[in-house]
Amino acid sequence: MGETAIDGGVQRSIGWARAGLKNEARRLLPKLLTSSRISMADDLVFDTDQPPAGRCEPLTPLVRRIVAPNSGPVTFTGTCTYIVGRGQVAVIDPGPDSPEHLALIQEAVRGETVTHILVSHTHRDHSPGARVLQAATGGRIVGCSAHRAARSLGAGEVSVLEASTDRDYAPDEEMREDDTVEGPGWRLTAVETPGHMANHLAFALPQESTLFSADHVMAWNTTVIAPPDGSMGAFMASLDKLRGRDETLYWPGHGGPVREPQRMVRALIHHRRQREASILNRIAAGDRTIPAIVAAIYANLKPALVGAAGLSVFAHLEDLVERGLVATEGTPTLQGVYRPA
Ligand SMILES: [Zn+2]
Repeated sequence: MGETAIDGGVQRSIGWARAGLKNEARRLLPKLLTSSRISMADDLVFDTDQPPAGRCEPLTPLVRRIVAPNSGPVTFTGTCTYIVGRGQVAVIDPGPDSPEHLALIQEAVRGETVTHILVSHTHRDHSPGARVLQAATGGRIVGCSAHRAARSLGAGEVSVLEASTDRDYAPDEEMREDDTVEGPGWRLTAVETPGHMANHLAFALPQESTLFSADHVMAWNTTVIAPPDGSMGAFMASLDKLRGRDETLYWPGHGGPVREPQRMVRALIHHRRQREASILNRIAAGDRTIPAIVAAIYANLKPALVGAAGLSVFAHLEDLVERGLVATEGTPTLQGVYRPA
């Protein structure tokens, strides 16, 4: 799922209010600012090319795509299900429990054998279809672990995205870093990429120099990071991990391909650092709550997107508290009061 329009827009210029920041933060400021100054080539540019839902499209010699009929603000045109290989195939992210979508997948692989059903993470727009597809085809469900959050809930805290979570998913075999599954002419290797969700995996297909990046890196928008299921610190580490990899194309969980993946990864890192700098700036300037920070750093935000913006700020604040740059009482929460550390 993506963060909708909230990150498509506004970044206030980074004018630092240094008052109130403790020494460690002051020491880090020049570094943060320098790392924010990267070339125009690394600016975040979205590609909102819309893959059509409701039919199987051959994309490359090894990859076919079917987009599920679950379009929406965070799913864009719908979840992308990928079929990898010919004859003996893997299906990546069978999507929601949609009879219409699952019928299309089965139609697309008629006469072939589904040997593996791979799942990137346990959001309901990606994983529930795995069980239905397994019942129909007998393929083994492999991939991410059963659902787990990045941290346990704080006292009185509820997970705002609980309804989006698939707690019934249980793989036949859990894949960890570098675990592989293979068939004739293809091999898929797990790349642990926590952040959007703690159990998130991407899958590398070296035969086509491709990475199935699921909801970690997408072309149409930035991804949702919502604690406690998601973690900004883990997300940034997972972006760093992709830097320098040699895939030339990413097939994401929503929207069209990421055609210059290394540039996109750099732009996402840059974008998040800028957002972090804006939040630190507001805390230093006296803002103490998430609504106040959202109002200050997102100009012209549609009312429907205030909640999503609040989650994004929350994820950054949690990370800043962990790093000792911002303070709060107890576990960081959406309702928390934040101050300079
Ligand atoms: Zn997701």
